[in-house]
Amino acid sequence: MKEPFIHPLYIIEKLETAGYEAYFVGGAVRDLILNRTIGDIDIATSARPEQVMELFPKTIHVGIEHGTVVVVHENETYEVTTFRSEGEYDDFRRPSSVTFISSLIEDLQRRDFTINAMAMNAKGEIIDPFNGREDLRNQLIRTVGNAKERFHEDALRMMRAVRFVSQLAFSLSDQTKRAIQQYGELLRHVSIERITVEFEKMLSGKRPSLALALVADTELYRYLPQLNVDPQKFRSVCAHDWMMLQRVSESWTLLVHLLDIQDKQAFFKSWKLSNKQIKDIQLQSIGLRDVLENGWSKRIMYTIGEQASVSVNRILQLLRSNEYMNEHELLYIYSELPIHSLKDLDINGQDLLVWTGKKGGPWVSQLLKEIEEKVLYNELMNTKSSIRKWVQSCSQI
Ligand code: ATP
Ligand code: MG
Repeated sequence: MKEPFIHPLYIIEKLETAGYEAYFVGGAVRDLILNRTIGDIDIATSARPEQVMELFPKTIHVGIEHGTVVVVHENETYEVTTFRSEGEYDDFRRPSSVTFISSLIEDLQRRDFTINAMAMNAKGEIIDPFNGREDLRNQLIRTVGNAKERFHEDALRMMRAVRFVSQLAFSLSDQTKRAIQQYGELLRHVSIERITVEFEKMLSGKRPSLALALVADTELYRYLPQLNVDPQKFRSVCAHDWMMLQRVSESWTLLVHLLDIQDKQAFFKSWKLSNKQIKDIQLQSIGLRDVLENGWSKRIMYTIGEQASVSVNRILQLLRSNEYMNEHELLYIYSELPIHSLKDLDINGQDLLVWTGKKGGPWVSQLLKEIEEKVLYNELMNTKSSIRKWVQSCSQI
């Protein structure tokens, strides 16, 4: 048994000793066969959630209604889910009820793609009723069973299909691709939050351009928030080498840049991004526009900060812009800035009031800005005495 499975093997063995069936399932088995880094390790079992909780001293109860108990073992957490089939589906979303069952095969049958519908027992033997291994070899994403039906049950699976294309650099089986082409509209029934999770995984995958081209081919973009744009325009997005980007905020910045989205706030709100994420992207967008128009300046590095500057620079590299600068050089220039925020100034507004004896007003922040600029460009030393001298010489004029 390979390294990451050794600790959770204990969970499987304990369940088996108690008379239940238990297996590793889903993404971890797929990634083991692919020799990819293994993310979370999920376990499926014939034991009911109460029975799982009885066996393990440390559990977290997060999704019991779906049959999931999180077992804490050796400081790691593992989702242990009772074999289940999914009941009726409400409007193409998640099932409205789950039914616990005793058959592993039926549990695997409810899963999205053949490559995600394999299990591994304690001996390391693979249970693969839908030929997932063959699809792994052929690098194919194929739904378990009829694609049309599976997408009608849960339309999010269409987004999952394209995100796996990006993460694994695989293709879609013909039937799976055709069904996405035909039923993309069903995405309208899926919550934005779930779509965003998959879309971001797609952007951060190994081959985002491949997946974006598929989103263009299948016209899925028409059903994504604010992406129902001109087909040519969407197509142009795929022409870039998205792989070079390192943070998902960079991908979002590039996307709104290429699509020339004006109201970025509204765009990202409709994708339900967090305020923190939106702030990050806005900073990068400001930086990108400024540098494309005016070239790099100390002022823009100072305004958007180190991280956003590095991100903007990476996007410039992707866009093959002449403004792209060696990253070490950029970091050096940034580190050599005399100040990195207003807080670093050796004086504050209060000092200005005392020195001038004037009443407060908008002039204070204006003057601070002027001082900030002069210090930034080394025209004024960042010491109380030199700034004071300069302020007093100004007020004498
Ligand atoms: P990752 O490495 O990104 O975690 P994963 O395959 O483990 O990929 P998860 O979202 O963690 O993906 O889901 C775990 C497993 O649950 C999948 O491998 C699949 O078997 C099943 N699954 C997840 N979402 C769905 C869905 N919408 N429909 C059917 N099965 C699903
Ligand atoms: Mg997973």
